[in-house]
Amino acid sequence: MRDRRTTAILSVLLAASLAAITGPTPAYAAAAEPNQVDGLTVTQGDGYATLAWTPVDGATDYQIERTPVAADNSATGPAVITGVWRPNRQINNSSPTFADAGFNPGTRFQWRVRARFGTDAQPYSAPVAGTTSAPWGDPNVPGENLRTQWETTLAAQYTSDVDEYAYTKAIDDLSDRVRVTEIGKTALGRPINMFVIGYPTPPATPEAVAATSPLMVNCNVHGNEPGDREGCLIMARKLAFSNDARTIDLLSHTTVLIVPTINGDGRAANTRGNSTGQDLNRDYSLIRQPETFALVQMLRDYRPIAGYDGHEFGNSSAGDLPMLPPRHQNVAQSIFDESQHMIEGHMYTEGAKDGWWPCPYGCNGGGNVGLSEETILRNTLGLKNVVNSLLELRSSGGTTRPDEGNTANNRRRKTYSAVWTFNQFLDYHRANLKEITTARADAITFQVSNTGRIVFRGSRPIPAHPAPHPGEAPPPLDAPRDGQVLDNVPCAYKLTEEQYNGERTDGPAGQRTTVAQRLAAHGHKVVKVADGYLVPLAQPERGLIPLLLDGQGVEKLVDGERVYPTVTGKHNGQLVVSGVTCLRDATVTGPVRVRAGGTLIATGSSITGPVDASGAAGVFLTDTAVEGPVRIAQTSGPVVVVDAKVTGPVEVSGNRGDAPLVAANTVTGPLQCSGNTQAPVNIGLSNSVEGPKSDQCASL
Ligand SMILES: [Zn+2]
Repeated sequence: MRDRRTTAILSVLLAASLAAITGPTPAYAAAAEPNQVDGLTVTQGDGYATLAWTPVDGATDYQIERTPVAADNSATGPAVITGVWRPNRQINNSSPTFADAGFNPGTRFQWRVRARFGTDAQPYSAPVAGTTSAPWGDPNVPGENLRTQWETTLAAQYTSDVDEYAYTKAIDDLSDRVRVTEIGKTALGRPINMFVIGYPTPPATPEAVAATSPLMVNCNVHGNEPGDREGCLIMARKLAFSNDARTIDLLSHTTVLIVPTINGDGRAANTRGNSTGQDLNRDYSLIRQPETFALVQMLRDYRPIAGYDGHEFGNSSAGDLPMLPPRHQNVAQSIFDESQHMIEGHMYTEGAKDGWWPCPYGCNGGGNVGLSEETILRNTLGLKNVVNSLLELRSSGGTTRPDEGNTANNRRRKTYSAVWTFNQFLDYHRANLKEITTARADAITFQVSNTGRIVFRGSRPIPAHPAPHPGEAPPPLDAPRDGQVLDNVPCAYKLTEEQYNGERTDGPAGQRTTVAQRLAAHGHKVVKVADGYLVPLAQPERGLIPLLLDGQGVEKLVDGERVYPTVTGKHNGQLVVSGVTCLRDATVTGPVRVRAGGTLIATGSSITGPVDASGAAGVFLTDTAVEGPVRIAQTSGPVVVVDAKVTGPVEVSGNRGDAPLVAANTVTGPLQCSGNTQAPVNIGLSNSVEGPKSDQCASL
């Protein structure tokens, strides 16, 4: 809990009331000097102290002074200007705040603040002293007393891979709330671990975790940007052992996934890329490398609904905490909007309360950054319908944090600003779970409908936040250019045997994967047809598929063949599907019968008759109305029935492929599922069913 100190306010009030009786006293006179900062308070947080004060009319900025003091508040070292507050820092300038950080947590200081008019310094406020919060965890309680290498060396050393594994294992061993799971290995064979944290224990399987609408923090992709990783390790300890009401409440309602080090080889070598030199944050769509492949598989299996991706940013004039949502225009609007709300609606607001300075990535002349590459995790996550943000910890102190020439001070400010952000992220997820899951459901139903143009590269604009604002300059517009938009969208892509299963040379030798393996890692559904492999767009990651498989893709896997709809407009009478039939915005007045080996893909259509598929190669029925029973049985490949409106019963039985996706449908009849090799799933989008839901679909 935070302890908002009111000593200074009380002393001023006391002086004022005494003055009313006895005339001005020296203390009162001091407090009343012209342009002197008044009302200073200091509140202790995790590795930072929030200073707040009453603004001085006409001030152009403020300086924050910090002095180490003993218990009796006598100085034990020199006073230092540690902060400069400027009016572009926060959204509410009438209540200025500054998160002072960089100190060794647990030590005691005195703070003062003064206004400046240009370079003309005004009198300092009355001082406020306080002891900063020690690193979380009782040194005498097992588990709580764990500390990272970074903590024990007072930020002189970053936590090594060896120390990370030991610390991680100790938390795993000592906390019932934590399961550490290895999601893969780096190119050099280092384990890539993930904390799975829930209360009283984490759910036992990835599918069970997915059912809790988990959230994910990716802490270190660029090996030479280690600040967030240290924050993640500290945060994991508190989540594992703290019994405060907030922690218990958070972990009782979801599961927290923390990947401390996806790029262990790069971290050990202090390089941006992995051991092959690949920038992993340019590989999350292509997943050429074992590290990104592992993370994408994890996303498929654990299905986090929200995420943060931690970095550091080498622009000394930017804000403390540049952030950015998934901007790629193929990301569903609802995911973009909810991510923006998390950043501008929550982080900017809370930053203004606690004194941190979030801003849109690129703020203050950050250059050509924050664009639409789908290879960047921020965009990849958006294309996977995950509400998320980039986080960049400003590397150097710059002019607003002038005491960071000291390396340890600099490292501590960065790491504890990451702890602040990730804790805010947890709180946002807890408070906005309904909004996030609604955004995700809207995004999935939009994507499976395969409507709207495809943009290969191009971002949504990030408007400058209205003044007063945190950051003058948002990232570049990055609108789609000529040749980067496809208006005539195909129904599917067809790949040849060679394209699908052929050997690739774009990964590290000995660890190369095929397109088949990569699409499977993404969770994309593929239909084996007579002359190749069909990847329909009527699935939840529709925005990502063309970027990988279309010849126009900027960083694609293969140049797949566009397969266009075969039935549009009106079709009278029975429709028999034997090869591949793709309906788009079609009206079929009669039954649809899919023969053995046939593939039906129907989007945005209306079928006034039953749909009967027996032994099909694949069935995709999305954003489509069907009058009459739907029966999908004995399919050898994928079954996707999402956002369909069926008058009558639905039967999904005996299908032999991966788990049929049966989600967000409206069924005026029973939903009966049995004998499927893998039980159908709804990935969190429940069906509205008038009749009973039975057998394998009982909980859908
Ligand atoms: Zn980075």
